[in-house]
Amino acid sequence: MYTMKRKKRNRINTGRLILMGAALFVLLILLFAMIRFVFWSGRPDETGGGRQGAEADEDEIRTPEPTLLDIYAHFDWQETTEIRVYDHRADEIVTMDLEEYVVGVVSAEMPAWYELEALKSQAVATRTYTLYRMQRGGCQTNPDADVCTNSKCCQAFSSHERMQNTWGSDYVKNYNRVATAVMATAGEVVTYNGKLCDALYHACSGGQTEDSEHVYANALPYLRGVDSPYEDPMREEDVEIGVDALVELITAKYPESGITAENAKDEIKIRKAYDSGRVESLQLGKTQITGKNARNLFGLRSTMFTITWSEDGIVFHTKGFGHGVGLSQNGANGMAKHGSDYREILLHYYTGVEIAPYVADGAAKTTPDAQNTDVSFVPEG
Ligand SMILES: [Zn+2]
Repeated sequence: MYTMKRKKRNRINTGRLILMGAALFVLLILLFAMIRFVFWSGRPDETGGGRQGAEADEDEIRTPEPTLLDIYAHFDWQETTEIRVYDHRADEIVTMDLEEYVVGVVSAEMPAWYELEALKSQAVATRTYTLYRMQRGGCQTNPDADVCTNSKCCQAFSSHERMQNTWGSDYVKNYNRVATAVMATAGEVVTYNGKLCDALYHACSGGQTEDSEHVYANALPYLRGVDSPYEDPMREEDVEIGVDALVELITAKYPESGITAENAKDEIKIRKAYDSGRVESLQLGKTQITGKNARNLFGLRSTMFTITWSEDGIVFHTKGFGHGVGLSQNGANGMAKHGSDYREILLHYYTGVEIAPYVADGAAKTTPDAQNTDVSFVPEG
């Protein structure tokens, strides 16, 4: 701008020069005001949300890390669904946008350092899972809410305050990573025959996911057991329980089993296992229990376990973490590392599905007959 002015000066008279000088002065003042405005309005909203600043001229904001404002400014909030979230810590219902809720769930349910495509697959699964439950009456423990923040009932959720506490100085970086994954897939859901899926997910399958009917009440065509080839690590764990503690545990819950310190080694056996390696039933003396009940009783990460005996007692060798049905988060991250995008990940873990935009009153909405294939959901403890 300065060099342009110098060139022109040679061809103009003094009167015009004064006029142009005044104009330049005004321009400089305007420029200073603009820089000031952009500097202040471009700061991340540290109180959370950040939506109130979305009208700011985001094109002028340039920082090495995108701010919360950048993420929100490029998203059309008018298009989203409102959702009533029961915050079980504050004991209050908060109304927010579905996508904002999905950001909070993905932040709490998947490590933010996972591959971006894995985070995207989690975002679509979370959105689908949420809408599927909203269509069935919402949160089961809070009738006035669509969902709650208790992972034992609905899905885990991090507010901005919790994100800041958990992530510390990585808050903005991690938040933006998760928000990017959510915004990139905004409005997308998993459907089967045009209906929303019950998009179950778990931390780690241990190499093989499970058929839904082996864990929950019903066989759903899209919740089939599949290979999960890129899980590393498998979250393997050995749980050793001394004989006395073992007998106490078993007899407290199943007194009719007749298990004693003397017969435990002979009377505790895996009776049946599914093809995946997950235990279907365990023999405890005169009692037979399901693999699921064994997992709860002995505090195991999954039902994918084998048994050996040490000098002190029993050793459960477990693989994987969680119920094993649907999307494996660990497997999704492995697939992403091997070049798969979020669509390929979702199509792998949910059999025969499509990824489609959610239409509140359209094709993706389930009809009442979908109730017949509902899974009786038992959330992860
Ligand atoms: Zn709930």
